[in-house]
Amino acid sequence: MVDVIVAGGGPTGVMLAAELRLHGVDVVVVEKDAEPLPVVRGLGLHARSIELMDMRGLLERFLALGTLYPLGGFAGIRKPAPERLDTAHPYILGIPQTLTERLLTEHAIGLGAEIRRGCELVRLSQDEHGVSVELADGTQLGSRYLVGCDGGRSAVRKLAGVGFPGEPARVEWLLGEVQLTAPPETIDAVITEVRKTHKGFGAGPLGGGAYRVVAPADGVAEDRTVAPTLEELKQQVRKLAGTDFGAHSPRWLSRFGDATRLAERYRTGRVLLAGDAAHIHPPLGGQGLNLGIQDAFNLGWKLAAEVNGWAPEGLLDSYHTERHPVAADVLDNTRAQVELQSLEPGAQAVRRLLAELMDFDDVNRYLIEKITAIGIRYDFGDDHPLVGRRLRDLELQQGRLYELMRGGRGLLLDQTGRLSVAGWAGRVDHVIDRSEDLDTPALLLRPDGHVAWVGQDQQDLLSHVPQWFGVAAN
Ligand SMILES: Cc1cc2nc3c(=O)[nH]c(=O)nc-3n(C[C@H](O)[C@H](O)[C@H](O)COP(=O)(O)OP(=O)(O)OC[C@H]3O[C@@H](n4cnc5c(N)ncnc54)[C@H](O)[C@@H]3O)c2cc1C
Repeated sequence: MVDVIVAGGGPTGVMLAAELRLHGVDVVVVEKDAEPLPVVRGLGLHARSIELMDMRGLLERFLALGTLYPLGGFAGIRKPAPERLDTAHPYILGIPQTLTERLLTEHAIGLGAEIRRGCELVRLSQDEHGVSVELADGTQLGSRYLVGCDGGRSAVRKLAGVGFPGEPARVEWLLGEVQLTAPPETIDAVITEVRKTHKGFGAGPLGGGAYRVVAPADGVAEDRTVAPTLEELKQQVRKLAGTDFGAHSPRWLSRFGDATRLAERYRTGRVLLAGDAAHIHPPLGGQGLNLGIQDAFNLGWKLAAEVNGWAPEGLLDSYHTERHPVAADVLDNTRAQVELQSLEPGAQAVRRLLAELMDFDDVNRYLIEKITAIGIRYDFGDDHPLVGRRLRDLELQQGRLYELMRGGRGLLLDQTGRLSVAGWAGRVDHVIDRSEDLDTPALLLRPDGHVAWVGQDQQDLLSHVPQWFGVAAN
């Protein structure tokens, strides 16, 4: 019996596997597809995900393969980002999802995760001791926990009987990765003109004459798993742009809609859900992959603590309590963005008004912090403005904070030099640092970089550590 089976080797699944391995947890990823698919869905990483890559020593690899784009905008309303955002990474890192998956998979395997491809989970059952899983070829596997990272149509979610309430798709877009023969200047000029009114239309170069083209469909297909034909896509493009830019040789044709759903619960006994298996929403703002990676980052150390036997009561359940509202908020902002693309006069008026409001620095900042997920604050029941928020990277005397967090442990950042977490050695590092950057005497960070405690009193600290790191080991 392994410790954890992860169903699904997409970005969420492999990120989770890596986080579990960081803590020595035995993990097997079962992935339905025999080979990684060449299609690119997500186009990039937002600030919080970039920070997570930095906290795991992966940033250089991502930067080497990506392109930096300026931040700023909501629902396609472009505004320059405000000065001094609370992150060392105020940009979008454009990197195709295929590369993100490859880098995260290499990272997970490097840490010792086993990834079994061509293995589809088709059945599961659980009792108080563990989970039994059956694969499509009849193989039986046992584990202490199972995490469904198996995408929007999650078998794990359905088999665990978890409801997925929300709205079905009302609008749909056709998407194709195709070659365009028209000259790039003509393509750019036409797109700019059409997008002045039709925000749901777009085409962006992928290199080598290939473009990703998106055009609104006329209705919602009855069977959304059936891809559109090239002719259907060209027809929709012609309707809006007056030309189909000579589209040919599609590499990928697909449709996506604005279906918006959130799993009722993220944990059912020993079965958990993360990523698209737990939430789906339209891709506006490019948040889905980011949200999944961040779910994995929240869940990894908690599940590892449970498996390793020191998790305090309620730690694993805090995964749902913290991440469910975050996903609900993302669902809401994508709902809002879909409405803001409507050509109805009322929606257009709201769009114009929002564009005006975004000239206010605070509004602009608020929306950017939402989309990039750097504004997230979990409710730890403490009023201090830092508690519950993640801390940005800091230059410390011993090096950068995020570099110091690569082992996936908690961290006591202590300017007083009088505090101690000696009883939690191996779970919490203690860094004494008198850098000017920190405007509080001391703070305790969880392994995911969120602030668990702020203060200077040893007794007060000791009353907070067990909530996250269990009883002292020595
Ligand atoms: C057109 C489009 C554009 C997008 N753009 C962006 C963007 O710019 N930025 C962004 O952040 N997000 C974007 N997204 C969303 C992003 O692609 C998803 O949110 C992301 O892929 C979710 O990752 P995941 O690992 O949770 O699920 P998935 O990537 O869906 O991975 C699930 C994996 O599970 C496997 N699987 C399924 N069933 C089983 C089973 N029974 N047993 C074993 N394995 C199974 C699948 O083969 C798959 O590999 C976009 C999505 C679309 C459709």
